[in-house]
Amino acid sequence: MSTASLHTPPGFQPASRVRGFGTTVFTEFTALALQNNAVNLGQGFPNFPAPDFVKEAAQQAIAADLNQYARAAGHPRLVRALAAAYGPLFGRALDPLSEIVVTVGATEAIFATMQALVEPGDEVILIEPFYDSYPASVIMAGGAPVYVPLRPQGDAVRAVDWALDMDELRAAISPRTRLLVINTPQNPVGKVFTRQELTEIAQLAQTHNLLVLSDEVYEWMVYQDPARPVEHVRMATLPGMWERTITLGSAGKTFSVTGWKIGWAIAPPPLAAAVFAAHQWIPFAVSTPMQEAVAVAMEQTTERDYFNWLSAMYQAKRDRLMHTLELVGLRPVSPDGSYFIIVHTDHLNPPAEPGYRRDFSVCRWFTREIGVAAIPPSAFYSAEHAYLTDSLARFCFCKTDEMLDDAAERLQRALG
Ligand code: PMP
Ligand code: GLN
Repeated sequence: MSTASLHTPPGFQPASRVRGFGTTVFTEFTALALQNNAVNLGQGFPNFPAPDFVKEAAQQAIAADLNQYARAAGHPRLVRALAAAYGPLFGRALDPLSEIVVTVGATEAIFATMQALVEPGDEVILIEPFYDSYPASVIMAGGAPVYVPLRPQGDAVRAVDWALDMDELRAAISPRTRLLVINTPQNPVGKVFTRQELTEIAQLAQTHNLLVLSDEVYEWMVYQDPARPVEHVRMATLPGMWERTITLGSAGKTFSVTGWKIGWAIAPPPLAAAVFAAHQWIPFAVSTPMQEAVAVAMEQTTERDYFNWLSAMYQAKRDRLMHTLELVGLRPVSPDGSYFIIVHTDHLNPPAEPGYRRDFSVCRWFTREIGVAAIPPSAFYSAEHAYLTDSLARFCFCKTDEMLDDAAERLQRALG
């Protein structure tokens, strides 16, 4: 959205905390995809129908007149359903009323957490690549992001080859460090952090008395390879970590309803109370009928074997898009989790565009000339480390098979 207008008052400037913010890469590339009639494998949102049982629950909630403000910290039926679902996963009984806050998507939970826990001048460690709302939320809270990159190792033939250098992480911690953000399974590289890696991060957090925001919105999108079993480990379940961890989840990802914008933060009571203190002044409360629908859906996941169905469905889509990307020579990196695939573009020579990083030029070219939109991964890195992704692009596979096949045809026509 442009902030410049002919009709602004004299000398108008947006507040300094937002002045440097451009348009998000997702908005930019979805608009470019629409303009060019491209298959949008850029912004990560499912284009297939949400499950009927989830949609029916929403219709029934509205018909039943659950249409007024919800309890500010979360609709009682939803927080109870979340406590019941996550209790066994966290290995502890969760108190629905004091340990869960329902938010406007995980994105609001990120914003509220930063508002609640970061003092002006505090440093927050962000592991790159990161979901782009992390640095913006840190900055709006007056904090300072400190970036530690995952570095692609060698040819990066598997997601696990994105390595976090623990010495680099240790060196980034200062007396001002307050919080560390971890995202597993990870957007955009599809890395699922191992128990060993998370344990080392947890030890650093405890040694330096850091809080941890663990963004686990892709918790159900973890893929099994018989030769390489992958396990989603929850940071809050590691010894000594429950007390200092806020865990995030998202109904948008879990039930393929990104437009509903329902997310949650799970944390011990003092941290949850702080997140709630911010949340009550951001949206106050979240859409009641949508929370009721997510509650009903959560209650049915076990009897429907829903999470196994979801990961199997996505694993088949991952393999379908991997096959295409391999066929056209883009050397895709097979993700262990999430619904994104990183490819290599170093052999392509699209026209350079002045003012654009190489990966932006390549993704704009993919969108305009090939008719398949991708996202440039440098959008997930600080300026300092963006060079790491100059020859990479991100495609998402949370799309119908027809759409993935349409993309395959276009890519094969253009790249052979
Ligand atoms: N965290 C990560 C890592 C994400 O990729 C996204 C969305 N794509 C979110 C959080 C936001 O989730 P929501 O849509 O529930 O706000
Ligand atoms: N996180 C989603 C992605 O990576 C998009 C979220 C958004 O548009 N804000 O594609």
